[in-house]
Amino acid sequence: MSTSAEAPGTDNATIKQAIADAHLPSLIAAVVHLTGDTSLITGDIKPIYDFFGDGQGGLTDAQKARVQAAAFDAIKAYLAKGKPKAQPLPMDTIRRMMTFVAGAEIPERYVPFLLEELALEGSDVKSGHWAEDLPAAVKKSFRVLIIGAGMSGTLAAIRLSQAGIPFTIVDKNSDVGGTWFENSYPGCRVDNPNHLYSYSFEPNYDWPQHYSTQDKLHAYFRGVAEKYGIRQQVRFNTEVVQSTYDERRATWSVRLRGKDGKEETVEANAIISAVGQLNRPKYPDVKGRETFKGKSFHSGAWDHSVDLKGKRVAVIGTGASAFQFVPAIAGDVGSMVVFQRTPPWLGPTPDYHEAVGEGQKWLLKTVPFYAQWYRFWLFWMLTDGIYPMVQSDPAWNGPNSVSAPNDMLREMLTACLKMQTGEDEAFFKKCLPTYPPGGKRSVRDNGVWIAALRRPNVELVTDPIVEITPNGVKTKDGKEYEADVIIYGTGFQASNFLQPMKFKGRDGVDLHEQWDGDPRAYLGITVPNFPNLFVMYGPNTNIVVNGSIIFFSECEIRYIMGCIELLLRKGYAAMEPKRDVHDAFNQTIDAGNAGMAWGSPLVNSWYKNAKGRVTQNWPFPLVDYWDRTRAPNPADFEFETKKAAAAE
Ligand SMILES: Cc1cc2nc3c(=O)[nH]c(=O)nc-3n(C[C@H](O)[C@H](O)[C@H](O)COP(=O)(O)OP(=O)(O)OC[C@H]3O[C@@H](n4cnc5c(N)ncnc54)[C@H](O)[C@@H]3O)c2cc1C
Repeated sequence: MSTSAEAPGTDNATIKQAIADAHLPSLIAAVVHLTGDTSLITGDIKPIYDFFGDGQGGLTDAQKARVQAAAFDAIKAYLAKGKPKAQPLPMDTIRRMMTFVAGAEIPERYVPFLLEELALEGSDVKSGHWAEDLPAAVKKSFRVLIIGAGMSGTLAAIRLSQAGIPFTIVDKNSDVGGTWFENSYPGCRVDNPNHLYSYSFEPNYDWPQHYSTQDKLHAYFRGVAEKYGIRQQVRFNTEVVQSTYDERRATWSVRLRGKDGKEETVEANAIISAVGQLNRPKYPDVKGRETFKGKSFHSGAWDHSVDLKGKRVAVIGTGASAFQFVPAIAGDVGSMVVFQRTPPWLGPTPDYHEAVGEGQKWLLKTVPFYAQWYRFWLFWMLTDGIYPMVQSDPAWNGPNSVSAPNDMLREMLTACLKMQTGEDEAFFKKCLPTYPPGGKRSVRDNGVWIAALRRPNVELVTDPIVEITPNGVKTKDGKEYEADVIIYGTGFQASNFLQPMKFKGRDGVDLHEQWDGDPRAYLGITVPNFPNLFVMYGPNTNIVVNGSIIFFSECEIRYIMGCIELLLRKGYAAMEPKRDVHDAFNQTIDAGNAGMAWGSPLVNSWYKNAKGRVTQNWPFPLVDYWDRTRAPNPADFEFETKKAAAAE
């Protein structure tokens, strides 16, 4: 969370240390704010988009020294003058600074979007001033039920409470945080830099690491939920079982079940489902799983009572979670066999486990606009900046890649892997993906994964598993690997959206029967036949390479608040998307996904459902989702009037 505490120390040594830790292009932008002098961004220094560089835009040592000297003088003067308020800069200067910091020409259509991300006014720009003119009584007449108190549900509760809309929030867990409460496996951490993976309106200048561990993430989300008075309101240990729409009254009846099995029904005018995509563990469909005599558990429900010291451990899966817990436990276990179906692409990330420097924290807290530009840089670098590298070129027919830029990325990642695996050609081949980069979410690599697999007590097995036996794991070649413990790193039931809950909508239509294994929603949020059901992190709102889910959730809740405002302002009781609008949208999504690395026929992943359709991912740049969710278009919806609802 943002900290208003003054950073200690303003002496020369502190400033020098801070500058040494700085992201220099962002620091230069901050210096322009402090001095109004644009010469640093209009001269010979021109940062480049250096995805594989040292993160300093390819500046030469001489340029770095020049920038550091100018920054020192500017910060010193700013502190000596008692931290005067910076004068606003003209828009053309801001525009130039965007290109400068990003190291790329920013297309015009991105400017309003990036200006909002940049949030130079420092306010919570995405909250809007929600329907301030609507009487409190009108707002209070509308009650929302939020299902889930993870990152998305907490956000929804914050926005509703800011708006004065009454709500009930329930979660099956005993605490807030969702993903970051449940996944307590050793080594669990975020894969997006934390200064980006935080709510835009609640920056945390004290993240201990660039990619902090689960306990820090959980503390952050709990802290935010407490600060906004949300955690105190959550009905914990309460699961939503079924929601039924009452057409006559235009309300939802929602059946809740407590941990003790007791049930009750509550009513709401609208439901916000915030149950996540990665919430229900998935186990492999292998015979004999229940026959295993030792201990076994899933990474998403780690059994901390099992002491792994000295044990023979079998790990099934090499996805994002296994990638984090294998190196964390490899030194403790007696022996470990890692069963791999497909290897992940490793994205070089030297600072993956590194602490954020004290100087960097000082800059974030002390120098105006440094934090905003740093977040802006991360945002561009890791979101739409990388998007072209994972787009398919229909004319391209190179192996294991989908376009020339994608092939270049593949070659660079292959060379990085080769550097780690050395002369061991057989091992290199086992670790080298045979699908295009971006086909699946790549993992952040600082060398610990390959180092763990090369330990003398660890073996990487790529022969397919055919059976779990009472004693261990059997592979196709007939070998049986004995184990005391099996750990499933096999992911989540991602495409079973909103399950195992039941939703009965208009005319008693069942949501999962309507979807028939192929979940679809308009903008991932609304579904025909399900009036006033709003979904967060719904179908096609996940991302593979570009961005953080928090960005999507912030867009979704703004849109949902816009929908509620439409209802209240016009006196409507309910809304649902028009079927043709919904269908046309989904056709665009399918065509978009077919043009991306993860939609390639070369790729088989959890992003695709049993029918081979990509149900998880947003296929376009983030700017498009932002643009489409700024406000609902009334023409996209069927509305139900209160009068009609009451008269039936
Ligand atoms: C190990 C792991 C690492 C990840 N790393 C990243 C990352 O680096 N960057 C990124 O952007 N995303 C990452 N993700 C995705 C992550 O899930 C999202 O970023 C985000 O946490 C989703 O928040 P959410 O609130 O939408 O869903 P969740 O965090 O899954 O929360 C859903 C909540 O709903 C509750 N719930 C579910 N069903 C019911 C029910 N029927 N009744 C009541 N309550 C219910 C659950 O108990 C849970 O608290 C990661 C996911 C995992 C599993």
